[in-house]
Amino acid sequence: MTQLPIRVPPETRWTCGGCGACCRGYSFGPVSERIIRGLEEADIGAHWPLAAEQPWYQRQDGPTGEAFYLAKVDDHCIFLRDDNLCAVHAALGPEAKPAFCREFPFHLVEDQRGLTAVIRADCKSWEDSYADGPDITAAAAEVAAMARVVPLRQFKGDHVPVAPGVTAAMAQWLDWEDAIAPGLVEVREPGAQVAFIREALASRGLSLAAIDGGRQLPAFGALLQALRMVMQRVLAQDAPDEQRAGAVERVEAIERVLAKAGDPLPELTEDAKAFLAAALRSVWTGRLWTSGGDVAGGLGRWLFLVTCARIEAGPGPVSAADFAKHYHPWRRFAVNRTVTWTLEKARPALVDLFLSAR
Ligand code: SF4
Repeated sequence: MTQLPIRVPPETRWTCGGCGACCRGYSFGPVSERIIRGLEEADIGAHWPLAAEQPWYQRQDGPTGEAFYLAKVDDHCIFLRDDNLCAVHAALGPEAKPAFCREFPFHLVEDQRGLTAVIRADCKSWEDSYADGPDITAAAAEVAAMARVVPLRQFKGDHVPVAPGVTAAMAQWLDWEDAIAPGLVEVREPGAQVAFIREALASRGLSLAAIDGGRQLPAFGALLQALRMVMQRVLAQDAPDEQRAGAVERVEAIERVLAKAGDPLPELTEDAKAFLAAALRSVWTGRLWTSGGDVAGGLGRWLFLVTCARIEAGPGPVSAADFAKHYHPWRRFAVNRTVTWTLEKARPALVDLFLSAR
């Protein structure tokens, strides 16, 4: 349980729509032993027949070693009901569920000033609630107070990597984060948002000069071609059927995007712009950019995935729901280990997207 002060991005709203999407496609752990024993003692199999018919958890490798995971059935959690509700929650209440179920879609990170809580853009309900859901502050405090199995993510150290050869002192960076975040409420085009961040950092003395916009399209095309090549190599190997199907689907998506990469980007509706602005405030405040190695690589990566989804959702105007439908598969694709590795190797192209954003 944390007593740390909690901050959230400006103007962030969300509520759970009970869609069940977060109980599909992921791995369902680690789960604490206390939760597993609690479900055994409550005889969960008597409440949910599937759990009586087959093993409902197993031990497998997790981020901190071997741990308990809930079983999957048809790529969803064994406890997901046909009505998208959770059989554990229905039978025994929310406290009986694993912490990660109750934490999603919050992403928590601890820094030297306290705790930051943001919403992850892969939550399907966020596209419906970003505009008129409740402010997330109270829900964030509840999530932060829960017992944890996986330690809190840390954003600590003396310096923050901003771009190749460019760092900022941590204390300075934390001030800048807070100063820049409110500006992301007003700037609504994804490219303009990233440019706003770049220029705000440059105006504070970091060497982040914009580069020629003509480098944007070659960088975007190079990233797509690298990913297509990697997926084609997966297809050339003797991969399991599920992996092959995923690779075929992404190669087709990459080719659809490549075919339209040189066209003007499809227009976004005002709703889609507002949703994307909220998503970028989360990426910024929650330091979700760290997956790209530094700020430039991480925001370039965000812009790349957003642009792929926007092109696929075209011809537009692209609504928040149209955008999100295409964004979710791209985002899941990007966390695949091979794709993550490829994007790491292609970081110069991601940095080019950050420096040429406008
Ligand atoms: S235990 Fe319930 S909430 Fe958690 S993943 Fe399974 S169905 Fe979803």
